[in-house]
Amino acid sequence: MGSPPDGMMGFGEVAVVIVPGSVSERWWGRPPYRNDRVQSRFFAVATAAFENSLDIPSASQYAALPASSNRRGTKHAMKIHEYQAKSLLAKFGLPVPMGIPVLEPSKAAAAAEQIIQATQNQTVVVKAQIHAGGRGKGGGVKVVKGLAAARETAAKIYGHKLVTHQTGPEGRIVKRLLIEQGVAIASELYASVLVDRAKSRVVVMASAAGGVEIEEVAAKTPEAILLEHVEPTVGFRPYQARNLAYALGLRGEVAKNMVPFLLKLYEAFVALDASLVEINPLVVTTDNRVLALDCKMTFDDNAVDKHKEVVEMRDLDEEDPTETEAHAFDLSYIKLDGSIGCMVNGAGLAMATMDIIKYYGGNPANFLDVGGGASQEKVTAAFKILTADPAVKGIFVNIFGGIMKCDVIAAGVIAAVAEIGLRVPLVVRLAGTNVELGAKMLAESGLPITAASDMADGARKVVDLASGKRN
Ligand code: GDP
Ligand code: MN
Repeated sequence: MGSPPDGMMGFGEVAVVIVPGSVSERWWGRPPYRNDRVQSRFFAVATAAFENSLDIPSASQYAALPASSNRRGTKHAMKIHEYQAKSLLAKFGLPVPMGIPVLEPSKAAAAAEQIIQATQNQTVVVKAQIHAGGRGKGGGVKVVKGLAAARETAAKIYGHKLVTHQTGPEGRIVKRLLIEQGVAIASELYASVLVDRAKSRVVVMASAAGGVEIEEVAAKTPEAILLEHVEPTVGFRPYQARNLAYALGLRGEVAKNMVPFLLKLYEAFVALDASLVEINPLVVTTDNRVLALDCKMTFDDNAVDKHKEVVEMRDLDEEDPTETEAHAFDLSYIKLDGSIGCMVNGAGLAMATMDIIKYYGGNPANFLDVGGGASQEKVTAAFKILTADPAVKGIFVNIFGGIMKCDVIAAGVIAAVAEIGLRVPLVVRLAGTNVELGAKMLAESGLPITAASDMADGARKVVDLASGKRN
């Protein structure tokens, strides 16, 4: 087993080496510039060299990774509720059913009454608002007739636990409802706008197989998914929308309504800096209209602050509390389901650290990038977040001090341990700016810290210690 070239792995902006089939590749996706001949040559060479030196396991071995390690996106993408997403769609002129959000159970009946009055139609839909899909199958979407039934159904859903295949077995308590007008559905389609990382393009996706999980459609009948990639300099063109409408099998009035729907959907995606806008089902009504019956929207965390109205839609009840706290300290933290807590500076080094932990037989409990110029307070907060996770059986601090100084890291770790103690083994590897000072501070702190000479040494030690083995 070759020893990995310590320090060559992506500190800061220099180079992020993405190993095919590795955690980092699953995370970032393929390098977006791989179509560029020069870049891809560089990548091919660098990747091969890196892989050989690491004697890295094959991609298939990584296929057994837990789904949560497979999350894509640089940070977690902010989610909003269906009713909020629909209010945004409406601002872009997209047709949505009439609906009223209900944030207190006592207001559900009044909302239903108002909708029945306005539509002169007894059919209303009671929809649980949680940040997870699959609500229909889980019993969180009910089509009912009349005020009494609406009131009864709302009471059954509100405040109760809803389990869907996306919530996991623990489910979610429903704290918000959407009461909507009932719609006479002729057919259920699918449409979405998202980023195709492999092609470095926004893609508008559509399918006539709506109302079911798109992942399922993609797996069983990939030909049922229609794609139009968008050339960024010209945007999504009307002819592309017509292509999709036609390929969906729509004709006449319905096709005429679908084209502007898709164009506006793209417009909303771009204007809102969304990372996903998904309409499932996108319905055709019996009177030939097209309507967004459901909407899932997520946002690029790096751009969401530009959109105050979106930021205000954040529902902390629906977010992982540690991720929320990390967000407050401007830390890039994503919880994973392993047992090795990682504190690293720089996203590239954080990725490489996760890979090397995996390589030595461990599983990372998180992705955590404390960033370049983190303060002592930030490091302390980060360390506390790691320690608070009961799944963490060992912590690996892996810092390459560039802009970040090793003594600041040491001070942050010492302060955190002084405040909350240390209940698991801690392995620290420091290199770079002020490394001697940092090492001295840690040594003099009297904390039971295992020092590591390099990244591989640290990863091996923390995996051993966390599994109860001695070094
Ligand atoms: P999801 O299961 O979390 O994706 O929730 P959806 O909002 O997609 O609702 C699930 C299903 O409920 C849809 O696919 C529709 O079949 C059905 N549904 C939702 N609203 C209505 C409606 O107004 N009328 C009818 N007939 N069915 C509806
Ligand atoms: Mn849906």
